Amino acid sequence: MLDFVRGALAPGFAWLRAGFAGLLDLALPPSCAACGACPRSASALCPSCDARLLRIPRNGCALCQTVPATDPDGLCPTCIGASGPFAACIAAVAFAGDVEDWIHRFKYPVPGIGGLDPAPWAVVRELVRESAARVSGPSPHLIVPVPLHPRRLRQRGFNPPARLARVLAHDRRTRVDPVALERIRDTPSQTGLARKERQRNVRGAFRARGRIPPHVWLVDDVVTTGSTLAEAARTLRRSGARRIVCVCVARTALGGVPPSLAGPCTR
Ligand SMILES: [Zn+2]
Ligand SMILES: [Zn+2]
Repeated sequence: MLDFVRGALAPGFAWLRAGFAGLLDLALPPSCAACGACPRSASALCPSCDARLLRIPRNGCALCQTVPATDPDGLCPTCIGASGPFAACIAAVAFAGDVEDWIHRFKYPVPGIGGLDPAPWAVVRELVRESAARVSGPSPHLIVPVPLHPRRLRQRGFNPPARLARVLAHDRRTRVDPVALERIRDTPSQTGLARKERQRNVRGAFRARGRIPPHVWLVDDVVTTGSTLAEAARTLRRSGARRIVCVCVARTALGGVPPSLAGPCTR
């Protein structure tokens, strides 16, 4: 995927990012969240810090984002006809370089800071908005974050995807329900597991509370193989969801090796 991403970073792409300026939250501080020395521009960052984020091309397949879309639904030839649990899986940036650092600092704020670290939160918040702006079609009936198990939620103090889901629900003037989906098994971390192991690890991990409306956005911070999102989406579908779009901040390139062309989010 990284080659595909880098190939699209032609100079002409700058106008797309500049176009985002009008959508920014005016409450953001006027200086760059990274260097603090320059005015921010298209994100919470100044142009040179922003340029270090590896954006996924907008013309990518709406499921795998690894190759350009070729059909009117925004899919690549391989993903057309794939019978996965969701219709699209969109992230604005690759989980690499500075993005890894921003997301880590967002998810694990320095102890004693008394909540979110403002700089990484500002960056990650604008990136998830950028992902959401790439989703075509109407706003969803409901936005659901991927939940943490209650034990992990107590340990961490907050659920990062729930923070992101609230921002998107506010922007879209739609409903967010952080407990529509419960994590009923405290699964070990997915980090370091292969795709099959990840699928096994999260099987039966979720339960939906009540009836889920037809059109749902499922929000997470990072999509790797998509196993967690797929299991969560299947759970939502069993309770009534019909169209599920995953909105994430970043997407891994699995160590530089492109994910399966069948799409990490189609299974
Ligand atoms: Zn800067
Ligand atoms: Zn695809």
